[in-house]
Amino acid sequence: MVDILVLATTNKNKVKEFQEMVGDFPIEIRSVADFGPIPECIEDGETFDDNAYKKALHTAKILGLPAIADDSGLVVEALDGAPGVYSARYAGENATDAENCEKLLKEMKGVQNRKAAFKCVLSIAVPSGPALTYEGSCEGTILEEKRGESGFGYDPLFYFEEFGKSFAECNSEEKNRVSHRGKALAEVRKEFDKVMVWLNQRLSEEKPSKPDHEEYESNDWSK
Ligand code: IMP
Repeated sequence: MVDILVLATTNKNKVKEFQEMVGDFPIEIRSVADFGPIPECIEDGETFDDNAYKKALHTAKILGLPAIADDSGLVVEALDGAPGVYSARYAGENATDAENCEKLLKEMKGVQNRKAAFKCVLSIAVPSGPALTYEGSCEGTILEEKRGESGFGYDPLFYFEEFGKSFAECNSEEKNRVSHRGKALAEVRKEFDKVMVWLNQRLSEEKPSKPDHEEYESNDWSK
């Protein structure tokens, strides 16, 4: 029986958000940080999907345990989808959240169309390669200046119409309810019984690992 699912992120904010949302799952959720340092995964995929799968498989293979990873970012309509998969390093390698927000404000100066969306893809992978995928997105607009102190990343610049405030002005319960990550996790929650059956089946037939995208599965529960 599978009893541990490793959260393949060292981002403390994401760990906190995940744990708040899946703390009651009938499986122990452990952070990758609990296992000590592991080699870094190079996130060079062209889509959120590619990167989420890469991260989940990388961790699952190294630890020999099923792993869940997310890849997320901000997609801005007027910037042709930028910063997209480059969200974390929009202002350069190792850029801080403040530097990324600064760059976004500069690129959006005088731009009328301020529509944007946060996107999240979650991938649950087993060490031999197969994975399940879940997606969530949240639409909003880019503010002309930062508002609020909570959250992380682009939260201070992301205005969520329904609440009439930026994500950085929301408490975590509000944000988790409507966010891209919250929605993707809600999908996992809805199907968690099936996820457990799938994980148990995959782990019972584990063979020498072959980290191939060909082994990537769609969420076809008949398999
Ligand atoms: P990842 O860690 O490769 O998924 O990079 C995600 C990047 O997208 C983060 O570093 C943030 O800049 C941005 N991002 C993702 N989710 C959020 C969010 O919930 N709020 C604000 N920024 C986010």
